[in-house]
Amino acid sequence: MQNGLRMLKKTSIWLVLIFFLLWALTLLNPFCQLQASERSFGVGSQKRALVKGIRYWSNSAYTRIVIDIEREVTYKDHLLRKDVKLKKPPRLYIDIKTAKLSPHLKQPIPIGDGLLKRARAGQYNPTTVRVVLDLESVIDYKTFLLTDPFRIVIDVLGRPTRVKKKKATKPPSPQRSSSFKVVIDPGHGGEDPGAIGPKGLREKDVVLKIAQILGDKIKKELGWEVILTREDDRFIPLEERTAIANTKGGDLFLSVHANASKNMRVHGIETYFLNFTTDKDALRLAARENGVSPERISDLQLILYDLMLNAKVNESCHLAECVQRSLVGRLKRRYARVKDLGVKQGPFVVLFGAKMPSILIEVSFISNPMEERRLKDERYLNEIATAILNGLKRYARDTKMVRGQPSWSISTALSSS
Ligand SMILES: [Zn+2]
Repeated sequence: MQNGLRMLKKTSIWLVLIFFLLWALTLLNPFCQLQASERSFGVGSQKRALVKGIRYWSNSAYTRIVIDIEREVTYKDHLLRKDVKLKKPPRLYIDIKTAKLSPHLKQPIPIGDGLLKRARAGQYNPTTVRVVLDLESVIDYKTFLLTDPFRIVIDVLGRPTRVKKKKATKPPSPQRSSSFKVVIDPGHGGEDPGAIGPKGLREKDVVLKIAQILGDKIKKELGWEVILTREDDRFIPLEERTAIANTKGGDLFLSVHANASKNMRVHGIETYFLNFTTDKDALRLAARENGVSPERISDLQLILYDLMLNAKVNESCHLAECVQRSLVGRLKRRYARVKDLGVKQGPFVVLFGAKMPSILIEVSFISNPMEERRLKDERYLNEIATAILNGLKRYARDTKMVRGQPSWSISTALSSS
């Protein structure tokens, strides 16, 4: 009996030892550890999206930061005011949920433009990437999401401050320039051909030609400074085009496009400015020009609620009217069957956050055989450019827009519309 009890005791000790050994092995197993830690942060089977890149465009009063992310995520932004006690500058940070930081973003990105000191990103916790912008001064900021591909756009507005840099590396200060500045944006480019006509004419080629002709005319006749968002056949994301206009201190922004419709008989000219719309055709067009599916367009209209406060709606509407009237008037005098589709409004991403009066011009329908034929003809493009130029002159005359000491004389420059 005693022997039996001893045996039972021995077996129990062994069992307990084996149990502890197995438990210890479980702890050492890295696979089990990973599972345990992920569970503890509530990720479960959710895969983290890669935060792939940070791009920026800036001057001393405006900076646009774009965070490129592998796929759709949620985020939260926070502004921390200057902390005098802790000697910390104001900071704006964005927490991106269920995300993983790409290893090449671990180094801070120095900006030093007088508005932002730097941008930096870190893996705040296993599931959150935090992007921090160290600010010198800030008045306001806006963030919004764009899709296809997914990115978060942050616009920071500040008070211009002096840049503490050596003279040689000091960036140009567009705000102090005395010359009036027009930013012309030829739509699409590179891998994005835009709309394609029945005979194969590509929107990206036509609008580049118009932008170049128009730019030359503006420089020659008005003496204004002209900036093209692209001078050749290259792809530029929509948010970069607006960023160029803002950071270069543009006074007007014109995005030039050619229209398209499934119905090849549809033709005509229309000019848009940024605003909400319920017009189905305008929404369909905005989806195409934004490179998103029509279902996504309601998201963009929601973003607009935040952005419209700073948008120059009245000025943009007036600019659109001047350009549209001039285009239709001039082309009607020289061509048959020119159709006025009017001034319209829509949620065009390329106009999101533009700080100056800005419009999107659909010069003709490339999908219509007659208008495609015309768009192939240099004379027609020349007429379009002249008409837009005259529209700008009209706008300048109406608004008496003067920037510093313009290098053109109102009486001579505005007499030829
Ligand atoms: Zn287009």
